[in-house]
Amino acid sequence: MTKRILIVGGGYVGLYTALRLERKLRRRLGRGEVELTIVDPESYMTYQPFLPEAAAGNLEPRHVTIPLRRALKHTRLIVGRVTSIDHAQHTARVEIVEGEDWPVRYDLLVVALGSVSRTLPVPGLAENGIGFKTIEEAIHLRNRVLGLLDRAASTRDPDECRRSLTYVVVGGGFAGVEALAELADMTEDALRYLPELPAKPRWVLVEATGRILPEVGEEMGRYTVDELRRQGIEVLLNTRLESAENCRIVLSDGQEFDAATLVWTAGVKPHPMLRDTDLPLDEKGRVKTEPTLTVEGHRDVFAAGDNAAVPDLTDPGAFCAPNAQHAVRQAKVLADNIVATLTGQQLKPYRHAYAGSVASLGLHRGVAQVYGVKLRGLPAWFMHRTYHLARVPTFNRKVRVMADWTLALFFHREMVALGRLQNPYEEFRLAAGRKQGTLTAAESAQTAKEPAQPSAEATSARASS
Ligand SMILES: Cc1cc2nc3c(=O)[nH]c(=O)nc-3n(C[C@H](O)[C@H](O)[C@H](O)COP(=O)(O)OP(=O)(O)OC[C@H]3O[C@@H](n4cnc5c(N)ncnc54)[C@H](O)[C@@H]3O)c2cc1C
Repeated sequence: MTKRILIVGGGYVGLYTALRLERKLRRRLGRGEVELTIVDPESYMTYQPFLPEAAAGNLEPRHVTIPLRRALKHTRLIVGRVTSIDHAQHTARVEIVEGEDWPVRYDLLVVALGSVSRTLPVPGLAENGIGFKTIEEAIHLRNRVLGLLDRAASTRDPDECRRSLTYVVVGGGFAGVEALAELADMTEDALRYLPELPAKPRWVLVEATGRILPEVGEEMGRYTVDELRRQGIEVLLNTRLESAENCRIVLSDGQEFDAATLVWTAGVKPHPMLRDTDLPLDEKGRVKTEPTLTVEGHRDVFAAGDNAAVPDLTDPGAFCAPNAQHAVRQAKVLADNIVATLTGQQLKPYRHAYAGSVASLGLHRGVAQVYGVKLRGLPAWFMHRTYHLARVPTFNRKVRVMADWTLALFFHREMVALGRLQNPYEEFRLAAGRKQGTLTAAESAQTAKEPAQPSAEATSARASS
């Protein structure tokens, strides 16, 4: 009888697990003894560490995504959203579009949903903030930042100019620091084309604790603060965002100012869909797993990555941190343990001591701590690029990323704000004599299918068009 393996989520864990299973189970897949299915709302995996470079225009956004159909030759892809899992019935429900929802049966399940931004009930945050976890957010931010530079250069209102030129990033982890450093670098580059700009862009990093980039250690974290400040970025430690209503930023240190852009990267939480499953969750909402990556109490369910509480065998009592380093390595062990389950062999535990981290702080600047070796500046930046080039999946993407970087050596990055990408129907609607703000049938259909976007999206589309 065919064994049906269902992978929920086609990110790091999902893609790497499927790639390894395709290799290890090639003959069984060919004979129809095993069937591999992956479900993801997108038909591509996003290589998240490259998002800051995509946002800053050093990399073409499509090159930081890996098309699942092309990468996985022997896996069936369902582009849809898993809305619930009833493991007692070995069934996941998949929503393709609103109103079309069907069950997918499985024998073995891999839960690889990752995480979502962890928000707090800060007034105005949901309306005016944007996260930094998806390629769409990266593209949007690039257009928004460039669009606001254009607006600041054109407006005659000094308040509007100041507001447009103020960018706030909340959260001093990987995502926040790299996004801020790369985007600030991009605005610096853009200034050469904007001699009429009356003021310099203001970049503010707000971090609730006393340090940033904990992944690179305390000393390198301090170096990062100094380096960012040297670049003119305001780094506010031990400071919280209290309110962001009407784009008025209120901080816990008493500062108040207007900012047209607010990026929220203050941590992640496990995917909320896990609550619609009958799998065991811990108090943080992560799926509880054994060191073998099987879910507690279930030999036929596996979980890994950001959505799983995987015991860290190198640090008894602790759990593996949510990062790509663990996700990739866990996927390898997970795939091997699925093969062991199918062949009746013993499962192996996951054990990996965190090797350290590398982060980019803009062009030719970086910080790293790997196996205790501390690097800063150009060597760290070079290491960041080399490491991620080696890591990005598929030969195709490695070549394209390399080509983007090589071209960037000879030509400056593109500084065009394509803000209308968010509202492509507008131009034709005006040509057809329709009132602004009326939805076309196509838009209505699109809106019905898509989840609600934060209103900042709409604000931005107006801002940058
Ligand atoms: C900007 C940024 C930079 C980063 N840089 C680094 C770095 O330098 N080093 C490092 O170690 N880590 C880094 N990380 C963290 C790293 O990317 C994550 O830890 C890693 O992606 C986790 O892998 P995952 O498979 O658990 O989740 P993901 O890779 O996020 O995959 C989850 C998948 O589930 C899919 N999904 C969501 N909902 C559903 C649903 N309902 N049904 C089906 N599928 C669904 C998603 O579309 C996604 O494809 C960074 C993260 C960000 C955001």
